[in-house]
Amino acid sequence: NEEKVEKVMEQVESKDVKFVRLQFVDIHGFVKNFAIPAERLEDALVEGVLFDGSSIDGFVDIEESDMIAMPDPDTFAVLPWRPREGKVARIICDVYWPEGKPFEGCPRLNLKRVMNELAEKGYMMYCGPECEFYLLKQDPETGEVEAHDEGGYFDFYPLDRAEDIRREIIFAMEEFGLEVEMSHHEVGPGQHEIDFKFADAVTTADNVISFKQIVKAIARKHGLIATFMPKPIYGENGNGMHVHQSLWDPEGKENLFYDPDAEDQYYLSDTALYYIGGIMEHAHALCAVCNPLVNSYKRLVPGYEAPVYIAWSPKNRSAFIRVPAARGKATRIEYRSPDPACNPYLAFAAMAVAGVDGIENKIDPGDPVNENLYEMSEEERKELGIEHLPENLRDALEAFKEDEVVQSAFTDHIVEQWLELKWEEWSEYRERVTKWEIKKFIVY
Ligand code: GLU
Ligand code: MG
Ligand code: MG
Repeated sequence: NEEKVEKVMEQVESKDVKFVRLQFVDIHGFVKNFAIPAERLEDALVEGVLFDGSSIDGFVDIEESDMIAMPDPDTFAVLPWRPREGKVARIICDVYWPEGKPFEGCPRLNLKRVMNELAEKGYMMYCGPECEFYLLKQDPETGEVEAHDEGGYFDFYPLDRAEDIRREIIFAMEEFGLEVEMSHHEVGPGQHEIDFKFADAVTTADNVISFKQIVKAIARKHGLIATFMPKPIYGENGNGMHVHQSLWDPEGKENLFYDPDAEDQYYLSDTALYYIGGIMEHAHALCAVCNPLVNSYKRLVPGYEAPVYIAWSPKNRSAFIRVPAARGKATRIEYRSPDPACNPYLAFAAMAVAGVDGIENKIDPGDPVNENLYEMSEEERKELGIEHLPENLRDALEAFKEDEVVQSAFTDHIVEQWLELKWEEWSEYRERVTKWEIKKFIVY
């Protein structure tokens, strides 16, 4: 660790960093941070920094609110949108109690715990998320938003009016050490996707948080709002966060999802198939974490390339789990229902636990379904035993409440806090009268 501290301090010096933001996330995945002058960083890296953790969702009451933020030196990055002189950097922290015990409400430490448990079972998880987002213009008077351009899938300038913004985002990502795999205009007007390289689950969750920070900051510089809200515009594609994932041995030498001899099961190992079975088995409860907003369920409807039915397929994009064609070391599954409003630390923990439960209990995912699931009749789906995903947050929360396996991905503290906050959101939503309702029902 001493070496790492030294390396960070060298960067502070050479890049002339004046302030460092110590950041962590609340239970929703929102970034919380406070700044310290660069002179205090060296001590902070060794001892952590005491802060008041009250008034943070998923944290603690005012009576016992002293917490320690312990910076992770591997996450040091200069914020490229801040002044070029007197620079500002950020560093991601884990949260501890003052006595040094891990804080049960820290999503990042929770994910680390789950990944350590996985390692004890002989697994290491790699994830590669595909975060989609919309760029919106906001009318300063009315507050109404509309798409920033009229482009569609893979469109080019001038239909795609955000190519310079994406470029700037990509340069910023490089400063954060995020390696970009590809970027493009997405299907919806004003919708985009930028994919970065896969990594272990904790690093990837850090990267998702950094990515969202970058996109929002750069969009704001251009007078736009970037949103990862799952369904910002009625009638258009929603924002997904498909998560490519695979299990490896703890040393990262061998992809356990690949079986060169399994021609009859698409060269997928039994481990891969059971993992798929686990995700399918716990699909409903997983939604409560991976599709966390009342709005998330407006995305999971037929016709917009988002999954609705719980089935897997080596090719079908309407499926809940798709298996991309790559084999060998690149063998992976693509779990398509999560959306980018999720807290990635919680979501990756839940997926991993569900998948490994499938392996341990040899849960058969059934045959793949290669037909378009949206076009299948209800009878056909029934015959094949294909269930649909929860239609609202309430159903997902009910499933989560009953699912001890998915709950085991979290500390009791997180489970309690999550249920409390999410039931609150549901009841708030349930009572609202929308514009659409007025328009439709005023004639009664
Ligand atoms: N936007 C779609 C979704 O809601 C996904 C489109 C794609 O396949 O990239 O998941
Ligand atoms: Mg996409
Ligand atoms: Mg995808």
